Amino acid sequence: MNIIRRVTDMQRESDRLRAAGASIGFVPTMGYLHEGHLDLLRIAISRCDISVCSIFVNPTQFGRDEDLARYPRDFERDCALIEALGCDILFAPDESEMYPEGDCTFVHVDHLTNTLEGAFRPTHFRGVTTVVTKLFLAVRPQLAVFGQKDAQQVAVIRRMTRDLHFGVEIAVAPIRREKDGLAMSSRNTYLGEDERREALALFRSLQRARKLHDDGERSAANIQRFVAEEILRSGTMTLDYAAVVHPDTMEQIEDEIHGAALVVVAARIGSTRLIDNTFLGSEGSSS
Ligand code: AMP
Repeated sequence: MNIIRRVTDMQRESDRLRAAGASIGFVPTMGYLHEGHLDLLRIAISRCDISVCSIFVNPTQFGRDEDLARYPRDFERDCALIEALGCDILFAPDESEMYPEGDCTFVHVDHLTNTLEGAFRPTHFRGVTTVVTKLFLAVRPQLAVFGQKDAQQVAVIRRMTRDLHFGVEIAVAPIRREKDGLAMSSRNTYLGEDERREALALFRSLQRARKLHDDGERSAANIQRFVAEEILRSGTMTLDYAAVVHPDTMEQIEDEIHGAALVVVAARIGSTRLIDNTFLGSEGSSS
């Protein structure tokens, strides 16, 4: 596996590969990889000639009071995992490479970023869209793979990619879960034993929402109330939001659910913030 640290080296390698007719599939990550990340990479590997994975803990997507300093890192282990899978290139720039001295350019997607995660983490999506833009311009992929775990991020990236004519196809992998249902996340490592058990209320609430919907419940408000109650019943968790939304616009469904709908939740347990989601109806079978 080729490890590239500099943007210009990545661009040169990408140009060379594309000129030789190779297609490039890209998976951006912040490292501390788990099977959810590896699923994304498996898609890139299966669909493209060359796979590129990036590891960059992006400071601009963390709020001032968030967990940037303690975000888990294990570069050696990550390298071994993706190399074993057959990843061709690891792009691992440092902060000064991605944000050169005096950097003052940001990419902002309006509307979609104001609600849900955007309401609780006001600078988060600006950081995400800025770094994904920089990564796309460095890697120049034909395909980029993201996880349904971050449902709003998927909607934001799709919109940005379309609006800015990036010419990158966006593929989405279903949520990878632990055996007991907890959605895999690098942040799960923060959870103590009791917190880990309590965190299952998120998955349980989503499963029950799906069951309600399968049994014919179509009131978004009823499903939303039910999910919120289920999470709050768990004990010490605080709820940031529980909502039933349109998967593309992330707008809350106010009345009856017709067609595609997504239940999204965010909760805090101790100092850890967790998010999860599920589709209602047939799309939800895999996540
Ligand atoms: P991160 O390293 O947390 O920024 O995540 C990098 C990519 O992996 C994002 O597209 C995430 O949505 C995706 N991802 C993280 N956790 C999961 C999961 N449990 N299942 C599927 N994709 C995931």
